[in-house]
Amino acid sequence: MGRYLEAKCRICRRIGSKLFLKGPRCYTDKCALSRRPYAPGQHGRMRSKLSNYGLQLREKQKVKRMYGILERQFRRYFEIAQRKKGVTGTLLLQLLERRLDNVVYQSGFATSRNSARQIVRHNWVYVNGKRVNIPSYIVREGDEITFKNSERVKKNLKDFKEMSKKHQVPLWLLVDDEKFTIKVVRLPEREDMPADIKEQMIVELYSK
Ligand code: SF4
Repeated sequence: MGRYLEAKCRICRRIGSKLFLKGPRCYTDKCALSRRPYAPGQHGRMRSKLSNYGLQLREKQKVKRMYGILERQFRRYFEIAQRKKGVTGTLLLQLLERRLDNVVYQSGFATSRNSARQIVRHNWVYVNGKRVNIPSYIVREGDEITFKNSERVKKNLKDFKEMSKKHQVPLWLLVDDEKFTIKVVRLPEREDMPADIKEQMIVELYSK
């Protein structure tokens, strides 16, 4: 699968929003966007005013990069959301939130979505007792996520949890730090998802 290779902090600075791509560092004053809140490059400080289309495009890029998803897959999520009954923008975000790598990240057992993806790929994760190594796996209400029963894995998860202590676990997940389990108590609602995303802009962009 393709992935983004650009320096992570540059992505945040170009988009002008904290995307939390670097784990604990993002919560400190070492965050590059906090220190240099303008686009990278020679003309970064001279950010020009964006058109409506430009704003919509930037919002889409922001969400794609936040969740580490490439265009084709992102478009597929949009099409699935569009076919469902309900508010397309919210359904799109809900699908992204329900990805297994995001669930591991949101639970605090990984320092970033990228490290969560590695954890899933390395066969550390089980859903309802069955090993799942597909980061895009969509969890359902009632699912229970557990981890490989190995001292090394537990030690790593404990360390990641300690490093992520500033990260707030959303209410739709019930995490047991001692047993290393995550329960999906309900599906995420809009208020559980990042408040600074303007998903309606993405819907408008794709509906053109
Ligand atoms: Fe983005 Fe984190 Fe880098 Fe800050 S430290 S610019 S939030 S990746």
